[in-house]
Amino acid sequence: SSLDEALDTLVRDIADWPDAGVVFRDVTPLLADAEGLRLTVEGLTALGRRIAGGDIDKVVGIEARGFIFGTPVAVALGAGFVPARKAGKLPALTHGVEYDLEYGSATVEIHQDALTPGDRVLVVDDVLATGGTMAAVDELIARTGAVPVANVVVLEISALGGRERLAHERLGALRTY
Ligand code: 5GP
Repeated sequence: SSLDEALDTLVRDIADWPDAGVVFRDVTPLLADAEGLRLTVEGLTALGRRIAGGDIDKVVGIEARGFIFGTPVAVALGAGFVPARKAGKLPALTHGVEYDLEYGSATVEIHQDALTPGDRVLVVDDVLATGGTMAAVDELIARTGAVPVANVVVLEISALGGRERLAHERLGALRTY
C-alpha cells in the first residue's frame, strides 16, 4: 500500500544515536512529507478505532512525538487530547509513574483531572521499543480510573520485547521491524 511505501522510504535509521551501538529510527522525514503524514495519521486513526472497538473519549499522546501524531488522530476521532509528559513539565496536580531505563529510570506524568473515571482512552506514540514508556502510561491512565482501550504506534521494534510487557491484544503498530 502507499502507507507501507511511505514507511519504507520516509523512516531513516541513524546509527549510534543517542548512544554508540543504538540505531535510532528517525520519523522526521515522514512528518515532513505531506502524503506520508496524512497516511500515517489516517492509519493510526483506523487502527486505534478497530482495536478499541467502540467509543474513544480521549487520546493520550506521549511526549514528544506522541503529541505530534496523537493530536490529529484525536481530531479525526472527535476525541480530546491529553499529554503524558516527562517529570516536572505539567503545571497542575499530577499522577506520576516511574519506570526503568537501560541506565537509571524516568518518570511520566499526567494531570489528575485530565481523564474521568470510565473514559475510554487511545494511547499514541511514535515508536515502541522496550515498552517501558507505554506500560508506564497505561498505569498512569489506570490511576485516574480511565481505561486504556487501545495502544497504537507507528513503529514497533519487536526484538526489544515491548509487546510482551503490554496487553498484546490492544497493541497495534503500522509497521513491525
Ligand atoms: P521504550 O520505553 O519502549 O523503550 O521506548 C519508547 C520511547 O522512546 C518512545 O516514547 C519513543 O519515542 C522513544 N524511542 C525509543 N527508541 C526510539 C527510536 O528508535 N526512534 C524514535 N523515534 N523514538 C524512539
